[in-house]
Amino acid sequence: MKEKEDSSIAMAEGDGEGVTLGDLKKKMADFAKERDWDQFHSPRNLLLALVGEVGELSEIFQWRGEVPRGLPGWDEKEKEHLGEELSDVLLYLVRLADVCGVDLGGAALRKMEINARKYPVQYCKGSSKKYIHYASENSGSNGSTDEL
Ligand SMILES: [Mg+2]
Repeated sequence: MKEKEDSSIAMAEGDGEGVTLGDLKKKMADFAKERDWDQFHSPRNLLLALVGEVGELSEIFQWRGEVPRGLPGWDEKEKEHLGEELSDVLLYLVRLADVCGVDLGGAALRKMEINARKYPVQYCKGSSKKYIHYASENSGSNGSTDEL
């Protein structure tokens, strides 16, 4: 029985190319259901688990100073660990969105559209300033002070 469960998970491994949020949502729902863990997957519990995993991800970078893109000098074991913690964060985020009834993919696309309006290329290209610096120049802004 255990072998069968492990092999079904192993089928999901590989290069990950083409995996969708919907695939992950279903796998997480199945994973929880098989273990009777739905009872523990309340929005609050999942949020706290997500925050804990963000902490574990942060620990990998803690005390290293600035790290160049591509992580030159990191060995395969370190990169594998990074992939595991990134996955923990993603999986809890997907599960949290699912139990909250949020279409995460759709919400992310909508948020990117909002961000694109907030940060018009002509005003912010090459600048790391927050959008409020462009708001007076961008008549399309609603003047909100929400975070990105
Ligand atoms: Mg973890």
